[in-house]
Amino acid sequence: MEEKHYKLLTPGPLSTSSRVKNVMLKDWCTWDNEYKELVQNMRKKILEAGGADTDVYTAVPMQGSGTFGVEAMIGSVIKDEDKLLILSNGVYGKRIKEIADIANKNYEYIEFSYDTCIDKKSAKKVIENSMATHIVLVHCETTTGILNNIDEIGELCKINNRVFLVDAMSSYGGIPIDFEKNNIAFLVSSSNKCIQGVPGFSFIICKKEAIKECKNISHSLSLDLYDQWEVMEKDCGKWRYTSPTHVVRAFCQALEELEDEGGITKRYKRYSENQKILSEGMEKLGFKCLIPKNIQSPVITTFQNPKNEKYSFKDFYDFLKKEGFVIYPGSISGKNIFRIGNIGDIKKEDMEKLLKSIEKYTTEVLGWKN
Ligand SMILES: *Cc1c(COP(=O)(O)O)cnc(C)c1O
Repeated sequence: MEEKHYKLLTPGPLSTSSRVKNVMLKDWCTWDNEYKELVQNMRKKILEAGGADTDVYTAVPMQGSGTFGVEAMIGSVIKDEDKLLILSNGVYGKRIKEIADIANKNYEYIEFSYDTCIDKKSAKKVIENSMATHIVLVHCETTTGILNNIDEIGELCKINNRVFLVDAMSSYGGIPIDFEKNNIAFLVSSSNKCIQGVPGFSFIICKKEAIKECKNISHSLSLDLYDQWEVMEKDCGKWRYTSPTHVVRAFCQALEELEDEGGITKRYKRYSENQKILSEGMEKLGFKCLIPKNIQSPVITTFQNPKNEKYSFKDFYDFLKKEGFVIYPGSISGKNIFRIGNIGDIKKEDMEKLLKSIEKYTTEVLGWKN
């Protein structure tokens, strides 16, 4: 059967290059040396891509989607005597709270409005007044596309002597992050976001001196980050349980393509340019962005649904899918919104073509005169 391809304008899984898809045509043996070398090289490349010092940091891949990685991190790092401060302004911040609840961790949850950037101004007092030993926040909150200020929160963690954890799921690989300056102890991301691989595993970048302290903390066997790290170190790239071999191979290709593109700063530039084309083009057509420009990330953009009785998200979605684009519904209750991502193997021309299709929808279906 001939499959119809369309561009995924969603925040992962996303559109991957044909090379990334093609390298998955080979089968690998998980305990074979050739495969383990591939894994070790990938772990090193993950760090190098983000400018994390390989003497200070180690990258530990974990089977499962991004949430499995966040759960492994929280479950394996926070001890009974610790306290975690969760700073949240969206669905993914809230998910960390759910994880902490189920894992029975001692935590404090502070929720900011979905359109408030978590930065020095909004969070300084909260951090200073908290007894937490560890602080976690989401870098790019994919719920809206808002970009939280990890530079300022990292600095506050350093001054107040707290361990800093980051969910950089939808930003690592697409937005530069300074590990040293921000004093990041743990950072989690996954294979199917800005590095532009396919879904199947997450990875946690850990300070070596910090992961060494995490033995026997996890109450989960399969999500024990310390054990995963220890086995991978001792057995030179061996995953504890079945490894997503094809996904790993595709990810290595994706890392190579990130390097070919010119690294994270260049990819950030492409994403930013595409986001600008998208948001300006949409505003010209009559759509409104939800998040103010100065705190908007280049990853995903939230728009208000048009107020028009002929409009329904489902029709709009189906229309665009026929045109070759898949967009994303909104996820804030009570808000009439939708989202368009621009991460992945997406070019300027794709954005322009998308805008043409949206214009077609607004004139033909909604009857707007542009
Ligand atoms: C994608 C994402 C996750 C993980 O979601 P999965 O569906 O488990 O991959 C976590 N946090 C953020 C900010 C994300 O964008």
